[in-house]
Amino acid sequence: MTDGISGAGRGLVHHEGLIFERSVPGRVGHGLSARRFSAEGSAAADLPTSALRQVPPRLPELSEVDVVRHFVRLSRWNYAVDIGTYPLGSCTMKYNPKINEDMARLPGFAALHPYAPHAWTQGALDLMWRLERQLAAVSGLPNVTLQPAAGAHGEFTAVMMIRALIADRGEVRTKVLIPDSAHGTNPASVALNGYKVVQVPSGDDGLIDIDAVRAAMGPDVAAIMITNPNTLGLFESKISEIAEIIHEGGGFVYLDGANLNALMGKARPGDFGADVMHINLHKTFSTPHGGGGPGAGPVCVSDELAPYLPVPRVARVEAADGSVHFELQASAPLSVGRVKAFYGNFGMFVRAFTYITELGSDGLERATEMAVLNANYLRARLRGHYHIPFDRTCMHEVVLTDKTQKANGVSTMDVAKRLIDYGYHPPTVYFPLCVQGALMVEPTESESKAELDAFADALIAIAGEARDEPDRLHESPQSTHLGRLDEVTAARKPVLVAP
Ligand SMILES: *Cc1c(COP(=O)(O)O)cnc(C)c1O
Repeated sequence: MTDGISGAGRGLVHHEGLIFERSVPGRVGHGLSARRFSAEGSAAADLPTSALRQVPPRLPELSEVDVVRHFVRLSRWNYAVDIGTYPLGSCTMKYNPKINEDMARLPGFAALHPYAPHAWTQGALDLMWRLERQLAAVSGLPNVTLQPAAGAHGEFTAVMMIRALIADRGEVRTKVLIPDSAHGTNPASVALNGYKVVQVPSGDDGLIDIDAVRAAMGPDVAAIMITNPNTLGLFESKISEIAEIIHEGGGFVYLDGANLNALMGKARPGDFGADVMHINLHKTFSTPHGGGGPGAGPVCVSDELAPYLPVPRVARVEAADGSVHFELQASAPLSVGRVKAFYGNFGMFVRAFTYITELGSDGLERATEMAVLNANYLRARLRGHYHIPFDRTCMHEVVLTDKTQKANGVSTMDVAKRLIDYGYHPPTVYFPLCVQGALMVEPTESESKAELDAFADALIAIAGEARDEPDRLHESPQSTHLGRLDEVTAARKPVLVAP
């Protein structure tokens, strides 16, 4: 390997340094010729002095070829759902059908201006209205907003609605119950809304302890936030009883529906007691995610909460003559207001709508069945090689631990890093927090049996290495450009500016 500037590497695997290291003073990548400007032959001469920089920007100086090669080379170091199995638990990294992209790129959608008059945007409004109806059908909760830009944003919006309704009732409730297996965004959304988080412990069976819910419920509790299937991949079978306890006490049941891969087409949260839930289009409904966005976290609510939904809302209006048109209605006196510029991440809506429409209700149900089957297949294949804390039928994901490997000094992090050498993105690690050394695997429905077998074989081979040559695992990954990174220092002392 070389200094990273020349572009050499091993074979066709190119090494690549920082873009700043490629910079050569005076090199340019644009084609603006001096002839385009005035007689002085410089852009500066055509601009008022007040518009000119005093200090040149700290940008790398590169040719077009340099820039293209830099980024394309980096992209080849990346891992993606289009490269192979991406088993991150709780993230639902499923294959995203390419037809979704074709639809989102239709010029009539992609080039639509958010300020265009509604008479010109009827198709887009119609699509939003239909997607809302589809999500209502999946969730069993009839009223939907598409505005929130992520799951966490959906949670925040929904808790805001609960808070507003409780205030209108003239009640004072200060707490929200959250199980210890919850995703970290749950307590954050609750705390941002000014509520106190009360943690509810899981029982030995990995399910919420119903007695603990009963004990914690009181007139000061606004809601419970519950994930079902929970982050251990288990179905909270007492969900209806829990909902009853909360409802009897005047509270709301919030269902974290970020991962609907084990429910869609099979069970509707609205039927098992949820009053409100968010859905991650960028997980269950196959719109690409990762690297920070974009996302879409629609919220579905009961009729009681509907008046508090954000504005504007899409409305289907039937005129007296039977004709139909769509409107965005902004007046709703109890609404919590607008939570996102314009209408939300519209491109995500097109992708999710395409996916749901393509599959239909039968297809969604089949996807659920395959997602659950795949997770259980991996559980069965990995049994005996890894400790499985809750070794019974799971939903769309399965949690393993490093308990067996720990005896030889091999940790979850070692296993995860070694998987990279076998050509896989590691699963989610050390989450959920209530399981020590957790490795959380969500294969999703898009993996074939052959892919699952290859992935299981890799994990089994690593379990063998952990037994026979544990030291080697501390040095993995070995087949990457950079070996084991010091993640703590990288997080604590990030170097974000070029030297
Ligand atoms: C992913 C996830 C979230 C948060 O979704 P974002 O879109 O990342 O904000 C919340 N809850 C659960 C259970 C999740 O898996």
